[in-house]
Amino acid sequence: MNFIQEHDPEVGKGIWEEYERQQNNIELIASENIVSTTAMLAMGTVLTNKYAEGYPGKRYYGGCEAVDVVEAIAIERAKELFHCEYANVQPHSGAQANMAVTMAICKPGDKIMGMSLDAGGHLTHGSPVNFSGLYFNIIPYGITKEGYIDYDAVMEQALKEKPKMIIAGASAYPRVIDFKRFREIADACGAILFVDMAHIAGLVAAGVHPSPIPYAHVTTTTTHKTLRGPRGGLILSSKEVAEKYNFNKFVFPGVQGGPLEHVIASKAVCFGEALKPEYKEYQQQVAKNAKALAAAMMDKGFQLVSGGTENHLMLVDLTNFQDVTGKFLQNACDEVHITLNKNAIPNDPRSPFLTSGVRIGTPAVTVRGFKEEDMKEIAECLYKVATDFESSKEEVARRVKALTDAHPIYEGK
Ligand code: PLP
Repeated sequence: MNFIQEHDPEVGKGIWEEYERQQNNIELIASENIVSTTAMLAMGTVLTNKYAEGYPGKRYYGGCEAVDVVEAIAIERAKELFHCEYANVQPHSGAQANMAVTMAICKPGDKIMGMSLDAGGHLTHGSPVNFSGLYFNIIPYGITKEGYIDYDAVMEQALKEKPKMIIAGASAYPRVIDFKRFREIADACGAILFVDMAHIAGLVAAGVHPSPIPYAHVTTTTTHKTLRGPRGGLILSSKEVAEKYNFNKFVFPGVQGGPLEHVIASKAVCFGEALKPEYKEYQQQVAKNAKALAAAMMDKGFQLVSGGTENHLMLVDLTNFQDVTGKFLQNACDEVHITLNKNAIPNDPRSPFLTSGVRIGTPAVTVRGFKEEDMKEIAECLYKVATDFESSKEEVARRVKALTDAHPIYEGK
């Protein structure tokens, strides 16, 4: 960072300020994490200079011997980590992995069932403003008012609609997803099951959430959420399905050009870390912290959608706190150095801009060494912000500082 500040003070200042924000803030955004120093440094290497269109051993450019080695390591480690036969490590993002898979399996106009955005699905699962909703015939499924997937209702809808593909996976679902049940639904209506495990991939890798791999025809993930790698995407499947739908071709040249080999190197580092025993302990602690935070939040009177969590995140329903919107809580938390995001709750009476909820998760704070007792302190701080912001903000900021000072980032991590 010092090097960048010396050579480009303007950009260097921005990077330094973001480093300080991460150091001094309690990061509760459920989709964010703090990568290891090795994973971060791998991205700032000479690999960024290299064009490598194609795949290891079959490139359109010369001089790819070294990047071939790196990409092959990433592929082999991804396969070992998730117990599958095929991995494509090139997608620049989760959205691009999803686009490649959707284009490989479906033709424009085909019917696709995906969880609707307001129920916790992702934009790429059928939002009208995304390629998925623009080019495909989307049949959205929702969740119950208690916040659960109603598998019987999804089955009924699937039998009626007979979609080409069903997408399982979500951005704001705090419960275990029953992938076996989803496969039964897909089989019953002759659909392909595509699981997007972006949020829970780290938990899956560590055996803390059941794996979709034995049930899904194809699985995608981002690499930067619970998985704790660089920003990027990943596609996993059996060899047979990968060949049948030619996922490689739909990533490149389908939706991308040259792969980001420096990011792929970082993905390889992340997968290597995830294969180590201490990774399992980390993911177990992520889930323990989420449970502890959920319990402490409920003790303070916060309502949680579905009444708790079984993964790394929870959705807080603020409707019992008069006049407290998701937007207010997000902005007020920013002032006291707690970072979280507003999120709609099921049947939200407020607009998506205001919302009646916030989503919070534990992957990033767990990397810093936060434990269950720290979750109680976080719940106290959130309660004070929600109920008595003006008079308690200085006290909360002090309490946040005590926590972040006690758990610095990038020190021995
Ligand atoms: N899939 C799910 C379930 C997500 O939650 C997200 C991101 O939030 C994505 C895909 C897209 O990932 P990216 O932002 O890397 O495109």
